[in-house]
Amino acid sequence: MVVGAGPAGCAAAYDLAANGKRVLLLDKCEFPRPKACAGGLTMKTVKALRYSVEPVTREVVRRIVLENDGGSATLVKTRQPICVMTVRAEFDAYCLRKTMEAGAIFRRIGALKSVEASADSVVLVTESESLRARF
Ligand SMILES: Cc1cc2nc3c(=O)[nH]c(=O)nc-3n(C[C@H](O)[C@H](O)[C@H](O)COP(=O)(O)OP(=O)(O)OC[C@H]3O[C@@H](n4cnc5c(N)ncnc54)[C@H](O)[C@@H]3O)c2cc1C
Repeated sequence: MVVGAGPAGCAAAYDLAANGKRVLLLDKCEFPRPKACAGGLTMKTVKALRYSVEPVTREVVRRIVLENDGGSATLVKTRQPICVMTVRAEFDAYCLRKTMEAGAIFRRIGALKSVEASADSVVLVTESESLRARF
């Protein structure tokens, strides 16, 4: 079980599912969901992801302006991309779709009330159900 289907949860769930584990990915939200974010992905992030983000890339950034408190600005231009821009809701929904295609099962849950660990399992208790996984 992975709680939270944002980029971090999807990344964990994707690798587990791709390596043959049965994965339940849980979130209190349906996707796509609104998220305050600029939607920029550094090239390090783009390389770390297990799939291409080209389908959700809106812009490839090769120029940025750096400003300091005094108000002066420097334009930085590069041949190699600095980052790519996405719309966060689209990016997150895409990551979730790729993770489900890798085999993870997504389920929306109600508010999480407790996480109880025993010697060989963990139980998540939500307002409407209990979910148990061995580890
Ligand atoms: C204004 C702003 C701009 C930003 N711009 C950028 C940017 O351009 N580039 C960048 O890389 N980062 C940016 N960030 C940071 C980025 O948004 C976070 O680093 C990123 O969202 C972290 O991903 P995550 O998967 O850990 O968490 P999240 O994306 O927040 O996902 C967590 C998920 O867990 C779920 N969840 C939480 N608690 C529970 C619970 N109890 N039960 C069930 N589900 C639960 C939530 O519903 C959510 O879907 C920005 C952040 C802000 C605030």
